Amino acid sequence: MKVKPLEQLPVTRLRGVGPAQEKKFQQLGLHKVADLLFHLPLRYEDRTRIYPIAEAQVGRTMQMEGSVVNASVEQGRRRSLRCVISDGSGIIGLSFFHFTAAHKDALTPGTRLRCYGQIRRSRHGLEIYHPEYQRLSHGKEEPVPDKLTAIYPTTEGLLQSRLRKAISQALQLMESSGGLTEFLPAALLKRFSLLPLIESLNQVHSPPVDSDQICLDTSLNPGRQRLAFEELLSHRLCMRRLKQVNEQQLAPALAAGLLKNQLLANLPFRLTNAQQRAMEEIESDLSSVAPMLRLLQGDVGSGKTVVAALAALTAIDSGYQVALMAPTEILAEQHLQTFSGWLEPLGIEVGWLSGKTKAAARKSTLSALVDGRTKLAIGTHALFQQGVEYQRLGLVIIDEQHRFGVHQRLALREKGGVSQLNPHQLVMTATPIPRTLAMSAYADLDCSVINELPPGRTPVNTAVISNRRRDEVIKRIEVACSQGRQAYWVCTLIEDSETLQAQAAEATAEQLGKQLSKIKLGLAHGRMKTDQRQKVMKAFSSGDIQLLVATTVIEVGVDVPNASLMIIENPERLGMAQLHQLRGRVGRGAIQSHCILLYQSPLSDTGKQRLEVLRGSTDGFYIAEKDLELRGPGQVLGTRQTGLMTFRVADLGCDAALLDDVKLAAEEIMASSPELIDPLVNRWIGDRQDFINA
Ligand code: ADP
Ligand code: MG
Repeated sequence: MKVKPLEQLPVTRLRGVGPAQEKKFQQLGLHKVADLLFHLPLRYEDRTRIYPIAEAQVGRTMQMEGSVVNASVEQGRRRSLRCVISDGSGIIGLSFFHFTAAHKDALTPGTRLRCYGQIRRSRHGLEIYHPEYQRLSHGKEEPVPDKLTAIYPTTEGLLQSRLRKAISQALQLMESSGGLTEFLPAALLKRFSLLPLIESLNQVHSPPVDSDQICLDTSLNPGRQRLAFEELLSHRLCMRRLKQVNEQQLAPALAAGLLKNQLLANLPFRLTNAQQRAMEEIESDLSSVAPMLRLLQGDVGSGKTVVAALAALTAIDSGYQVALMAPTEILAEQHLQTFSGWLEPLGIEVGWLSGKTKAAARKSTLSALVDGRTKLAIGTHALFQQGVEYQRLGLVIIDEQHRFGVHQRLALREKGGVSQLNPHQLVMTATPIPRTLAMSAYADLDCSVINELPPGRTPVNTAVISNRRRDEVIKRIEVACSQGRQAYWVCTLIEDSETLQAQAAEATAEQLGKQLSKIKLGLAHGRMKTDQRQKVMKAFSSGDIQLLVATTVIEVGVDVPNASLMIIENPERLGMAQLHQLRGRVGRGAIQSHCILLYQSPLSDTGKQRLEVLRGSTDGFYIAEKDLELRGPGQVLGTRQTGLMTFRVADLGCDAALLDDVKLAAEEIMASSPELIDPLVNRWIGDRQDFINA
């Protein structure tokens, strides 16, 4: 029987997945049955054996069976449901802290259970807290799995067992219906020693019990590696294709003129050599009729903005318009301020457009864009939405701050087209791309690097301090402020919820306010109204606020040279690149600045190493390389680095070695089977392409 391709089959077609569960699946990015197949396990458990209860050992995770002896609710410090089971060889307790009456009533004496969990010692003897368990029917043998059990990343409200059942149905469908296509040609699989797709998926989701250790280490599993290979290949093909398409387009040839020189003359500083070089590389691209596609990389504070402004003026000098897009409203606002300050004295009109722009203001901005009065438009992705038209768009500048993937940005080009000509594109990124990676994965992108900080900066001194010494740290704020300096206190949360972040920052501000009663304190987070937040930022800039308590919103868009102290609470929750970005908010003046990483002990070994790297270096490129080394596979869901690019399966920490072969394979496909590019790109990047077009 031929069913629909699994790529088109919604997850609700599986047994046990109703509308409520569907939402949970969606939270994990799982929409179609095929998505389940590419949702890979974090690790495996061995449930192929049932151990006699007498063999239970503290600390081990074991599977056992037994009959309920009794079950009762205990009214201790925490109400709990405690159940004792016996299998004749011994007894063991099962404790539940979350339970319902129905739950308890089902555990009548004599009920047979199979349970799985870690054995602990409690005051009642040996116990398992919240075991996974199932009721067994009497007189019927329930078979044990003959394969290892995969443990998947999941989300609150979606039980591991339910997710596992859904994935196992997906695997069955794949086997029986042929609903998942192998795109890679047999010759290519052979040349690069790759497993076939179906075999890889089976191996990853249900490795046989006698698997080599190598298969159980998720990073080395050949099935997983084959999938990572296909994913990296698809990304590369996507980039190569966009680049090829781009090279065939026409762009206006732009030449610098008066305006650029006026800005240079007005600046209170001279360009560094690195800025000068980057500017020349950009100008040379702009003067050509092939559209520029250039990445401008540079560490925080290296001065990318002024280079972008000079590029903008080159376009304006030649009679074209420029659009500058930032990923967040806050960052866009900061650019609006900076660019207006530089460009308005030159008589250039700057326009503003964000998702929040009111209808009337939007209308007048749009008409100034279409009739060409506005030379530079700054905003969020609203700049490229339907209904926004430019008279003569010549250059698009994207400040991405590691929030977009490379190909997503490349696709934006299509939005800005005017008549026959395509705009040039400049992407600014503060995420240094490690050299190893740049050489292999991104070789196709033209890149200018600003590898030098403006003179007169003093490197930030970083300390790693346990939260137990919080009071000492608070004292340091008092000292710094009494010397006329200012400080940041950054609150972090794992969840990506602005509401929760805002609440955490509010609570911290209240508590710090009590301890630092003489200090003028302000609060800034993403849930505040724009004008309210701007007021706080302004007060901080002018020195009226001494201590700014903020969420990571300040990662972008604050430039206060007098701020010389930054405390980052729970830095272990953030990626190294993000910490480095945050830290770049201090050390902007001539005075010695300090950054305190106030961690919650105990720290994991990797956690320690990561903070240690930050303490020892202020070089963004070095930090990025270390990050890649330290970032192991199989990370817990949600703590994934907000790195340069997110992959579903591949992990550049352990898959970097595949990149050379990926490159060869991409060339082969482009030369001899270009019809495979579309399906591959759709499989791996498909939904994220939609995200850009939205
Ligand atoms: P980033 O690369 O992080 O975007 P910015 O462009 O925001 O860095 O620059 C950081 C600060 O350095 C700004 O205040 C900017 O005006 C200043 N700056 C930029 N270039 C120079 C320079 N050549 N000399 C001195 N200061 C500079
Ligand atoms: Mg910047």
